[in-house]
Amino acid sequence: MSQIYNFSSGPAVLPREVLQTVQAELTDWHGSGMCVMEMSHRGKEFTQIIHEAEADLRKLLNVPANYRVLFLQGGAHFNFGMVPLNLSKEGDTADYVDTGHWSRIAIKEARRYANVNVVTSNEDRGSTYVPDEASWKRSANAAYLHYCSNETIGGVEFPFVPASTFEGKDIPLVCDMSSNILSRPLDIAKFGVIYAGAQKNIGPSGLTLAIVREDLLGHARPGTPTMLDYQVHAAADSLYNTPPTFGIYVAGLVFKWLLANGGVAAMEARNIEKAALLYETISASNDFYRCPVEKAFRSRMNVPFFLHDDALNEAFLEGAQARGLLQLKGHRAVGGMRASIYNAMPFEGVKTLAEYMREFARSH
Ligand SMILES: *Cc1c(COP(=O)(O)O)cnc(C)c1O
Repeated sequence: MSQIYNFSSGPAVLPREVLQTVQAELTDWHGSGMCVMEMSHRGKEFTQIIHEAEADLRKLLNVPANYRVLFLQGGAHFNFGMVPLNLSKEGDTADYVDTGHWSRIAIKEARRYANVNVVTSNEDRGSTYVPDEASWKRSANAAYLHYCSNETIGGVEFPFVPASTFEGKDIPLVCDMSSNILSRPLDIAKFGVIYAGAQKNIGPSGLTLAIVREDLLGHARPGTPTMLDYQVHAAADSLYNTPPTFGIYVAGLVFKWLLANGGVAAMEARNIEKAALLYETISASNDFYRCPVEKAFRSRMNVPFFLHDDALNEAFLEGAQARGLLQLKGHRAVGGMRASIYNAMPFEGVKTLAEYMREFARSH
């Protein structure tokens, strides 16, 4: 097959070199005679795989010693429930920032367990920006503050990290980083809990990453299902039950690929360049294409855009497909197009898309 570029929002593109390593090692991992899928999760081979994956992730994100790295399942969705169950008691208030689709799903789930105070919402301007932090209505007694650092569907990304103190009190900051973790350097020490489904910027679906500050472990509410208690997974080094072994293996290869390619600082530089090219192509199109997101909050990972005439959508997607530019259709809730350009999307892919967009605009 000729060169293709996959712009899926997730499960999403993986580094080609990683897939080639997986292929080469598939039936015989490092002379073991076994595929990683066939190994005991408690055997020495897999023990090495999971330890290296954790060590490499810690190196990439500079994870401080008082944080635990957890390899979980259940996706970001399980964490929507785990956060209130582990970080708040019955009757507690939890603060939530609403910047779009994924914030709202997290809020809906949290309402089953906590008094949710929505500190701000961007719905007034079509969910296209992050409201100024000074205007947020935080509660003094919040068990934590939750936000989504990159709204994958709306294409709204935080250009800042919210304050982890309010009125002099430390408030654990909880972040759904599913679609922009590892895309830029991060000061983990500002956070209480970070979680991310793997299928955007880490590896295969089925694996979920959580980074949890140690003092927040061990406080799950009575009645919390065992598998939803962060402490259970921390105490068992992510091996309480059978973990998603193959996903952890592939994620570990992605971490090695990131380290070999300059780490998250180098990724950030590349991601800025890729996103700039797409947004410039959109704004230079004389309104042929339009991105609804306000400039300061445009995501480096997910670029939503609309054609000036919806009737051209099918032709645009067909032409893209014919050039090997795949999965550009926007989320069903939003319509239009969306180009997801995670770490594993090469600059060349974005360049090819930008050229196609200019050509399509000229000919239509
Ligand atoms: C994809 C995504 C989710 C949902 O993830 P699952 O792993 O399917 O539960 C949640 N939040 C964000 C920001 C996402 O991008």
